[in-house]
Amino acid sequence: MICPNCNRDTAHLDKTTQAVKVLGKDEYILMQDIPVTKCNSCHETLFDAKVAKQLDEFRKNPELAAEQLVKVAKFPKVA
Ligand SMILES: [Zn+2]
Repeated sequence: MICPNCNRDTAHLDKTTQAVKVLGKDEYILMQDIPVTKCNSCHETLFDAKVAKQLDEFRKNPELAAEQLVKVAKFPKVA
């Protein structure tokens, strides 16, 4: 499929997992299986408007997400 970023025919549908910040709070929601368009040429990962709207919905209403213990690690500094 055509990549909306670089216009080459090298994009495909995929799924990704990403942490999104809760609106106005220092909290995150780990969003799993987010449908995205990924491009093999420009390596862009794009959400369509419907997906972006759904992500916003979770950012505004974090109670929609299930509570689950998640381990968090900061990547160590590389010298
Ligand atoms: Zn592209």
